[in-house]
Amino acid sequence: MSPIASNLQVVRRQIADAAHSASRRPEEIRLLAVSKTFGADAVLDAWRAGQYAFGENYLQEALAKMAAVAAAQADAILEWHFIGPIQSNKTRQIAENFAWVHSVEREKVARRLSEQRPAHLPPLNICLQVNVSGEASKSGAAPDEVASIARAIAVLPGIRLRGLMAIPAPADDPARQRSAYRPLRALFDTLNAEGMALDTLSMGMSADLAAAIAEGATVVRIGSAIFGGRTYAPAVSADA
Ligand SMILES: *Cc1c(COP(=O)(O)O)cnc(C)c1O
Repeated sequence: MSPIASNLQVVRRQIADAAHSASRRPEEIRLLAVSKTFGADAVLDAWRAGQYAFGENYLQEALAKMAAVAAAQADAILEWHFIGPIQSNKTRQIAENFAWVHSVEREKVARRLSEQRPAHLPPLNICLQVNVSGEASKSGAAPDEVASIARAIAVLPGIRLRGLMAIPAPADDPARQRSAYRPLRALFDTLNAEGMALDTLSMGMSADLAAAIAEGATVVRIGSAIFGGRTYAPAVSADA
């Protein structure tokens, strides 16, 4: 078994254990393999081990990787998720090439993605990124803006608002990890109580997936625990 295949087994086991500890079913939690900085060979290695949803942060790197995967393995049908910062002038390529975007933080970006989503594709699945760490993070909508952005974008035809995403400031202690995710879960519950039909809480990375699952994560975004440490910056990080 390849190292990536065996890492995937370990991560799936961690997800199942965390789900059971939280009295949840493991099937409620999807694993997104974050392949940024790793090549098409690593993606295909994971695909052969049964993984088909992949997360990417850098647009040019992702497009090159998609092409390389398709060239190497034409029958590999993968689901690509964009999880990085979005520049307004890059929305068209995102709308054309991804199934999901987790990192929408402004209404304007959602409108562009909706307008630019090709008509022959299903609506682009969207999560609103929320800044749950205040000053510690510059990314994400402020929690008190999220309801109005969500209401404004829920009606757009080219996208489908699925839920919320957060990247809290790193913390080692599981109790602190959980308390960072709790406000996102509370916001999610509030929006659903107001009538939104959100089904996705994208939260949890390699270092805190158990805490995120305990707080209700439905998608965990796992990079280094699957692919190993990221030892080099992507060649095209300037387009992030
Ligand atoms: C890189 C990244 C991840 C994965 O992080 P790991 O710690 O390697 O699991 C998850 N989410 C986002 C938004 C990322 O940029």
